[in-house]
Amino acid sequence: MKDKHRTTRIGSHELSPRSLMMGYGYDPRLSEGSLKPPIFLTSTFVFDSAADGKRFFEGITGLRPGGAEGLVYGRFNGPDQEILEDRLALWEGAEEAAVFSTGMSAITTALMAHVRAGDAIVHSGPLYAATEKLIDAVFGRYDVTYENFAASAPLDEVRALLERTREDRRIGAIYLESPANPTNELVDIEGIARIRDDLYGDDPERPLIMVDNTFLGPVYQQPTRNGADLSIYSLTKYIGGHSDLVAGGVVGSNDALLPIMTLRNTIGTITDPHTSWMLLRSLETVALRMEKAESNARKVCEFLRGHPKVERVGYLGFLDPDSEQGRIYARHCSGAGSTFSLILKGGEAESFRFLDALQLVKLAVSLGGTESLASHPAAMTHLSVPAERKRWLGIGDNLVRISIGIEDSDDLIADFEQALQAV
Ligand SMILES: *Cc1c(COP(=O)(O)O)cnc(C)c1O
Repeated sequence: MKDKHRTTRIGSHELSPRSLMMGYGYDPRLSEGSLKPPIFLTSTFVFDSAADGKRFFEGITGLRPGGAEGLVYGRFNGPDQEILEDRLALWEGAEEAAVFSTGMSAITTALMAHVRAGDAIVHSGPLYAATEKLIDAVFGRYDVTYENFAASAPLDEVRALLERTREDRRIGAIYLESPANPTNELVDIEGIARIRDDLYGDDPERPLIMVDNTFLGPVYQQPTRNGADLSIYSLTKYIGGHSDLVAGGVVGSNDALLPIMTLRNTIGTITDPHTSWMLLRSLETVALRMEKAESNARKVCEFLRGHPKVERVGYLGFLDPDSEQGRIYARHCSGAGSTFSLILKGGEAESFRFLDALQLVKLAVSLGGTESLASHPAAMTHLSVPAERKRWLGIGDNLVRISIGIEDSDDLIADFEQALQAV
């Protein structure tokens, strides 16, 4: 019965993360029997002995492998953060997870830990706008260059790009985002992992494959099971799920995460105890919320697809199973999620009339919350993207981005129907 809170099976029966989210990694005996973990509001932790303090610091600073052995100081770790990390890793069956103050601080810390001055980052495009800016404007100042390929580019193109880049510079990271925002194109993570392994074998300089899994994870896609070394999350979106916090996470192997944890200890990009506690509560319902949102989105997209004012719906659930994208979907994804693009007949004026007429659905950027949101990428999130790149990315003035929540699906359809009438 020792460590009952860390068992992941009953006899030979393997427990699902859905069951483990309620108790895994927390021992009530250490907190007066409290069923739920308290929020540990403290900046520092007391050592039993000076020798313990020394041992803990050896782990924190990376002098000894294996990471932190005990709690030390609020910039390094804390009980709420550690329980959250243990539970987050379970969804991908991964060894380790690290949590961060925002999705962007997770991405920044992961890239900084693995990329050196003089390297190139090879990435799929488009990426979340702030990630593109980070790689271009911030890493660019430290002599890090980048090469990018379209998310749906054929694999021989990706291979050629990796080979060409490698002749010039060390590749510091292969950074992918799938599905891409706002085009919903899928990247062949397995295919790219095979190419990387083929090119590098067990060369210690082999670049890690990092995948931003915010749109479908952790329920509908688990990139570390498809050959990625690291799966990165904006926990602000589906995992937080209530549009009331910002946070980030990185999931993967101990080896890939150790330099990231060590850098996080130095620069302090960890999330706080209160946000961690909120995320523990969110993780208990993430599967329920994502499943309801995905079935709602399916119904809404079926309605929108047939509407005379709609040109097209960019929704993963409508991929032709015989297409290349459809085959990637079948190998990587177990559901279509609830974020999609609605392409209206017309331009900005029609899109704005549609957005202004919505009543139940709120006009806001972000996604993955319990409430449905709609926005206009060309005029909002992607406003600063040059016109030519917008065209290349397929971000037109008639594209509306929609994230479906957990409302009643008939109510959502009624709202979209009246808003389309107003166009
Ligand atoms: C929101 C988002 C991010 C950034 O996350 P923050 O929590 O806002 O820092 C990164 N990638 C994707 C795909 C996102 O949607």
